[in-house]
Amino acid sequence: MDDLHSLMQQAQLIYRAHFPMETNFERALFFSWGCTIGDCVFCYMSTQPAGKKPTETKRSISSIFAESLLVKHLHWDVGFVTGGIGVLKPDELEFLLKGIYEIVGEKLWLSVGPIPKPLLERYLPYIKGIVGSTETVNPVLHKKVCPSKPLAPYEKMFELSKQYSLKRAMTFIVGMGETHEDFPLLVDFIKKHDIHKIHLYGLIPTKGTIYEHTPPPTKEEQAWWIAQLRIAVPTLDIQAGIWDDRAESVSFFLQAGANSISKFQAVKFFGSEVCRQIVAEAKNAGRTFSGNLLTMPSVDWDAEIERLSFSGELKVEIRKKLDVYLKQMGKHGAKHINRVVLVND
Ligand code: SF4
Repeated sequence: MDDLHSLMQQAQLIYRAHFPMETNFERALFFSWGCTIGDCVFCYMSTQPAGKKPTETKRSISSIFAESLLVKHLHWDVGFVTGGIGVLKPDELEFLLKGIYEIVGEKLWLSVGPIPKPLLERYLPYIKGIVGSTETVNPVLHKKVCPSKPLAPYEKMFELSKQYSLKRAMTFIVGMGETHEDFPLLVDFIKKHDIHKIHLYGLIPTKGTIYEHTPPPTKEEQAWWIAQLRIAVPTLDIQAGIWDDRAESVSFFLQAGANSISKFQAVKFFGSEVCRQIVAEAKNAGRTFSGNLLTMPSVDWDAEIERLSFSGELKVEIRKKLDVYLKQMGKHGAKHINRVVLVND
């Protein structure tokens, strides 16, 4: 523990030298809950019934656009647009990216598996970077946890992305069986592909997977990977994934050098004690929390939807979905306000 403490102190100094003392919540926008790969042994999507076609697990466009509006007005960061590999046709994905880009007003990160060159070129107007869901870089472990999702096509995509000045991000899940001896492999991978950002999750022991009864990694273990990465790659954007039962880890992860937090079900728990704890944890770590997890935003939603270029029919559907989300967000007693405030106020 003493070793971790001094590691985190070193990581904290490096963080302060390269980044402002701010943090935020990053929301990933999902478009499906099924996947044509479907056999990564830790993944919820691998537990879906075999008879269910992945293409029938698409979320409605209106729901994704409604959530995008929320993300914008709650001042969260958009993590990435993602969903099961092979679920959306290129036309559908392009429409989705174009729409989210219009709503949030900035280019997006995209995580949909290895993307071939013609499609990468097609999505370029709407994306700033690509994410490889690499999960682990230990070759033996990778083969076991992602039997049908090899690393090589991701590595090819990372190299291709350099031709288009796109940024590169990867995912890494702590707790699936990697050891500290794997750390140099991870750093080599990051440096080899000039990775800008890493999503560092702790394993969620998902029901129906082989990890169902595996304890999740301790906060010390996840923090060890964050701190080591901050020291080894000082300018890397490090996202720490948390779940609703891990809010008490937030200050620990930020002190270990994470930039922001992600993964947490922020709409479901909006305004709840968990959100209050996350904001307090950020403050304890000396960070200003720039997004809003606590207070219902005062927005003329009709006007916001009306100004979008979508069909009238889609706008009606977006409004309906938005109402469902707003109702959900109000469940924990979040108050309405008439101005945008920093949640540290
Ligand atoms: S490719 Fe991604 S979404 Fe599909 S099963 Fe594997 S981890 Fe899950």
